[in-house]
Amino acid sequence: MFIDKVDIYVKAGNGGNGCVSFRREKYVAKGGPDGGDGGNGGSIVFKVDEGENTLLPFRYRRKFVASNGADGMPQKFHGKTAEDLIITVPPGTLIKDKESQKVIFDMSKSDSFTVCKGGKGGWGNVHFATPTRQVPRFAKKGTLGEEKELTLELKMLADVGLVGFPNVGKSTLLSMVSAARPKIANYHFTTLSPMLGVVSPDEGSAFVMADIPGLIEGASEGAGLGHEFLRHVDRCRLLVHVVDASGSEGRDPVDDIEAINMELIKYNEELSKRPQIIAANKCDIGVDDSIREELENYCRANEVELFYISAASNDNVKDLMRAVNKKLKELPPIKEYETEYYREPEVVGDYSFEIEVEKGVYYLKAPWLNKLIGNVNFTDYESLSFFQKMLREKGVIKALEDKGITEEDTVDIDGVQFDFIF
Ligand code: GDP
Ligand code: MG
Repeated sequence: MFIDKVDIYVKAGNGGNGCVSFRREKYVAKGGPDGGDGGNGGSIVFKVDEGENTLLPFRYRRKFVASNGADGMPQKFHGKTAEDLIITVPPGTLIKDKESQKVIFDMSKSDSFTVCKGGKGGWGNVHFATPTRQVPRFAKKGTLGEEKELTLELKMLADVGLVGFPNVGKSTLLSMVSAARPKIANYHFTTLSPMLGVVSPDEGSAFVMADIPGLIEGASEGAGLGHEFLRHVDRCRLLVHVVDASGSEGRDPVDDIEAINMELIKYNEELSKRPQIIAANKCDIGVDDSIREELENYCRANEVELFYISAASNDNVKDLMRAVNKKLKELPPIKEYETEYYREPEVVGDYSFEIEVEKGVYYLKAPWLNKLIGNVNFTDYESLSFFQKMLREKGVIKALEDKGITEEDTVDIDGVQFDFIF
């Protein structure tokens, strides 16, 4: 099975909660606040593993959840910060937002990327002792870790892509010019995952060439392994189009070239304009004059270079590789994908809330309030004023007063309790 596009779910760890606790001292009934902070949650981090060339491992694991930070503890002990969850991917993997299919990050730009940040640990009540609030009964909750539904898509990083029908000798060619050892066999579809090889035609020069699993007619519509092939050609700067010039399988090389080019156009117009060099292979078997003439006419008309080679007996292969290298020097670098997905601004239209009163505590219930309390910094004047302003503007203060709240009564939002002193 050939996997180069998978959907996965990732979630960073939540921050640990801050702790509410008071110092216990001999002869002192209740000491000062000493609740420690919660630890941060682990983030979801992607890392490139140069040795990988498939997303196959994701077939067996599609859910990645990083650990939560530990809660703070008494005696000012901080909760443990959780470790990041590292997900390794092959070079050239695109990270996309599953729903919109927009690119979040191209792993060819950097070998490490944090896709979901872990939640922040909440402050323990030790932070909240102020001259006017000697007994802070609240601590901050940890914030939630981010979560995302992602699509991973492998678009290999190779300068050169070998394209052509199955069995024309692409794998053989790659194995002759690089250390890559692709499967070679005399039946169709032997190559099921792309192979990369480093080719060094001359001292001090090198490029990466990929053996793309055999293209066949109808690939752009999903025949055979369809799109799976074409996705990999996408980034190549140059295509070496391999044909069987011997007619050993009764094929007509020019028809084959045109058929494959048609698939490229149908898949992606831009791809069909990628420069090509034609490698007429299996010349050791012999090439008919008529085929020779046809090929040469085609190449002249389309202004592409043509090389007669024999991958099996290594004839003319070196010259082909030198020509490839020369051409590459004129071409732009490997394409990188720009980030097109940005977090949508949150739609906060719903400011409704409920109030429940129990034993003199006024419990405020609403998702937006939980979020608000998670972000307020009680020791910061501005942050506190913003918090109060929001409560006033959204009618929370009024509603509490209508319920009969009085100064010094306790208000609870998501477990954080404070005195009503507005
Ligand atoms: P691919 O499907 O394009 O990767 O083709 P392979 O490299 O697997 O080759 C298919 C068959 O053609 C194998 O049996 C190879 O040994 C044979 N072959 C490849 N190149 C040559 C060549 O230059 N001359 C001859 N005679 N056979 C070749
Ligand atoms: Mg092959």
